[in-house]
Amino acid sequence: MGNVLFTNVRIIDGSGAAPYPGEVLVQGNRISRIARGGQRLPPMAGATVIDAAGATLMPGMTEAHTHFAWNNAATLDGIQIMPLEEHVLWTAGVAKLYLDHGWTSCVGAATAKPRLDVVVRNAINEGLIPGPRYLAASQEITVAGSLGDDMLPHLPYPEFSFGQVVSGPEEMRKVVRMFLKYGVDSIKLNLSGDNFVPSAPAKTTWMSDEEVAMAVREANLRGVRVTVHARSCASIKQALRHGCEVIYHASFTDEEALDMLEAARDRIYVAPGLSVIVRLLYEGDEWGIDRQKAVAMGYEEELEAVEKSLRAMHKRGVRVLPGGDYGFAWALHGENAKDLQYLVKYAGMTPMEALVSATRHGGAIMKRGDELGQVKEGFLADLLLVDGDPLADLAILLDRKRLLGIMKDGAFHKAPELGAGRTRWSLPAA
Ligand SMILES: [Zn+2]
Repeated sequence: MGNVLFTNVRIIDGSGAAPYPGEVLVQGNRISRIARGGQRLPPMAGATVIDAAGATLMPGMTEAHTHFAWNNAATLDGIQIMPLEEHVLWTAGVAKLYLDHGWTSCVGAATAKPRLDVVVRNAINEGLIPGPRYLAASQEITVAGSLGDDMLPHLPYPEFSFGQVVSGPEEMRKVVRMFLKYGVDSIKLNLSGDNFVPSAPAKTTWMSDEEVAMAVREANLRGVRVTVHARSCASIKQALRHGCEVIYHASFTDEEALDMLEAARDRIYVAPGLSVIVRLLYEGDEWGIDRQKAVAMGYEEELEAVEKSLRAMHKRGVRVLPGGDYGFAWALHGENAKDLQYLVKYAGMTPMEALVSATRHGGAIMKRGDELGQVKEGFLADLLLVDGDPLADLAILLDRKRLLGIMKDGAFHKAPELGAGRTRWSLPAA
């Protein structure tokens, strides 16, 4: 890993501060020096100089609700029936795809078979396969009849179930300990239903307090966080009462829930994962879910509710992050940066606030807020070199061609093109 000097960049540092022109020196895997405005960093022998001709340099982004194992199917069964061998390869391929799209960190939000996430995280960390920094998740843990219990009455085999189905605290303890043994970074609980499951819609709440308490106790004992699927108001409150750290969806709130969210804002994260609702409501036709059906499934009501909830949370200083449930037929892996636009449209963020969510808050949800997610001296060198100004048009971040350079941990996953024949990039004579 050599040293790299970026010159002539417009820096969006991820802190929320206004962009500024400057130079950034990366030594090893860290950002060692930053020069602002007209200042120049002293030339350094052996450093690769990248004259970025005014391109934007920003922190790599964090996806807060990632499912590498989802295989772009239109049903949960379609994900689950993929044989294990193919599923491992698929999951590894998706990990690379996220890095290709500028997501240098991802927070696993559930996987489809017990060890898929852990194995892929380990392979990334060992350098066997390319991929983002990754926090590996358990499967969804659920209860009979709720989201993730796909067993048919006449085929009551757990292998057919998308999630791990438990009943009672002791079964919860057993399953949580199995995932802890495998080495997960988080335990995922399905507290509420989901409009995707007609018999367990979004406003319903399923898990008992005894079960949630057991999961949190066992996970915390090992320093592992609990993340929850919580769309209903009661499930959001349940998550907060039990000290769960990451709340996915958080669609339906009331004043009490908002007060509780605000009181916990320094220790919790919310990632709404809007893609499912937005896409099925407005673009579901192709998947046999026309507007009328989507409304009947409750998606119009839920979008209205989640918009209200997110705007209130954002105003109250709750950290709301991009990411969520890509890897379905209607929201493919790689389109994740759409979430930044959703945060502006539905959560009332400015484009800058959406970028801060994807970067500074991203470093925090990765549990490395003191060294990840900002362009700052001493921080880890996870950087994107972007052709254009994402603040003027967040859609730029959806376009792989506009991501000129992608650096993770000081090494280029995608190096900007260099060469004497090109005008934009030049390597000065040493
Ligand atoms: Zn999800």
